[in-house]
Amino acid sequence: MNAKQYIHMEDTFGAHNYHPLDVVISKAKGVWVEDVDGNRYMDFLAAYSAVNQGHCHPRIMAALKDQCDKVTLTSRAFRNDQWPLLAKEATSLFEYEMMLPMNTGAEAVETALKAVRRWAYEVKGVPDDKAEIIVCENNFHGRTIAIVSFSTSKSYRRDFGPLTPGFKIIPYGDSKALKAAITPNTAAFMVEPIQGEGGVDVPPEGYLKQCYDICKSNNVLFVADEIQSGLGRTGKMFACDHEDVKPDVMVVGKALSAGTVPVSGVLASKEILGVFKPGDHGSTYGGAPLGCRAAREALKVLVEEKLVEASAELGDYLMQRLKKINSPHVDLYRGKGLWIGIVLKQSAGGARRFCEALMNEGLLCKETHVHIIRLAPPLCITKEELDWALERIEKVLKTL
Ligand SMILES: *Cc1c(COP(=O)(O)O)cnc(C)c1O
Repeated sequence: MNAKQYIHMEDTFGAHNYHPLDVVISKAKGVWVEDVDGNRYMDFLAAYSAVNQGHCHPRIMAALKDQCDKVTLTSRAFRNDQWPLLAKEATSLFEYEMMLPMNTGAEAVETALKAVRRWAYEVKGVPDDKAEIIVCENNFHGRTIAIVSFSTSKSYRRDFGPLTPGFKIIPYGDSKALKAAITPNTAAFMVEPIQGEGGVDVPPEGYLKQCYDICKSNNVLFVADEIQSGLGRTGKMFACDHEDVKPDVMVVGKALSAGTVPVSGVLASKEILGVFKPGDHGSTYGGAPLGCRAAREALKVLVEEKLVEASAELGDYLMQRLKKINSPHVDLYRGKGLWIGIVLKQSAGGARRFCEALMNEGLLCKETHVHIIRLAPPLCITKEELDWALERIEKVLKTL
């Protein structure tokens, strides 16, 4: 079958809940992917930062294959020999007391929401059903009904009601708004340290620290959704590390399993995760031996291959080089580490046509919102590969 036939088949039998670029990928390795016609592309999206370690990393593949021959799923009706190791290794690496394993990012966010609500009732003493959670405009935390209930994107919410109450939305990057929104019933403030889907939107310096301090002085939990910003993407293990903020609740996903099987998790103290007792919450695949084995190896690769440090160094290089490109279309470049948004001017005619032109040059990235091109290559990219990409980005930004 050729690409056209695959696309036709997908559009006929698959629901149209995405608008993908028309490249049909059948193979990948490191930063490179190959389509069904044998064309090679450099991946500059890394599955929204889920493949920070690079596609089909040999060590992670070997671990998965080995685990496949042993046991893949026990459910948590029984114990297995991988979840305890992931729990120990992840909590020691990230410096938290406990972890709760789920699969997708949205599930981990839901888990965090449940945890902080219950913490509010059982620990803080908020009256029944009165707990409030504060979130930010332009947030992206996933697609479940509770989560889209506090999205400010119309298309995420429209006709999915009735929506879930108990959320307050404040402007992003404004710590005074957080202070003003807190009441005695506030359980938590949940924030992306850099808004990814919001267009790699970096808040003002000091914002996270200010918000954290405000939370502390009001007995409100600070929840960081680092599903996209975490695990090295911004040049630190977590984006919150740039301001030395240690969130009470840390939500991780995506690169936690390096693009293999979905693994997400919530990390927090015993006081917070201790609100869950047997039967209160769970997931059939959460803590599965296959996923845990993948995550364990994915974290080892991240640390041992110094991908966090690489992201900081190469990210600076990429940003410097981008800023030298003289293009009539670019309003500004923003981001941290190997995570950069090219914000285009209104007159540029939208980011989609730039992403399509880049695809024709062999570089895959994806627009976010209408006017922003998001760059997020796997963190294992080399300087030479970045130069290769920069040549194409420069060409498209200058000639389109
Ligand atoms: C991707 C993402 C999610 C949702 O993760 P899924 O695995 O798609 O459910 C939540 N929060 C942030 C910040 C994300 O980038």
